[in-house]
Amino acid sequence: MEKHGRRVSRRLYRIKGGSLTVSELPVEGFKFGDGRAFTVVKSGLEHVTVAPALGYIAELATRIAPWVDLYLGPRILSETGERWGGHCHQNQGVVFVNTRAYASTALETLFHELFHAVDWYLQPPDRRVLDAAVARGADYESEYLSDPVERRARLFEKFASYIYEGGRCLACADTPEVEVLWRIYSGKIGQEIFEAMQGFEDIAAA
Ligand SMILES: [Zn+2]
Repeated sequence: MEKHGRRVSRRLYRIKGGSLTVSELPVEGFKFGDGRAFTVVKSGLEHVTVAPALGYIAELATRIAPWVDLYLGPRILSETGERWGGHCHQNQGVVFVNTRAYASTALETLFHELFHAVDWYLQPPDRRVLDAAVARGADYESEYLSDPVERRARLFEKFASYIYEGGRCLACADTPEVEVLWRIYSGKIGQEIFEAMQGFEDIAAA
């Protein structure tokens, strides 16, 4: 059945280390918790444009935040049943993205949530540059929207979407925030974080 470009789906996609696996969602949903909060993925309507974009999605996730365990499914819910476009368990490196909307919207959500994953490890000087940029941003008179964490994620989401849709001049602009955003988008910062993580693992295993 197809409805407004969407079809009923029980598929849970998982992208980890560049490879994609597809499984069937249990009736009670797939539940992930990190000790502080949990996220549930349930069956629902999946947009027909998402499945063909999974290759790009895997490529971007693996480049921007190589350690991330990414799940995509039709309904992403908080523990109180609130519907989310996406979610990031930063300390676990686990990211969720909704498959209900167009693939282009799923990509925006992906950029936003991957930024949260990277932001957890961002060096203070880089974070200060982004904070100075978002301090110039709009005042939404909303605690959630005004939170610098969310402002930084939205800035990266807009920047990355602009580049991904073919825009170029931003990537060449000589401003401190574009320099940081570009290092995240290109995967340079993600690779540094990933290598540091592997260094810690080697020490722990020794
Ligand atoms: Zn966010």
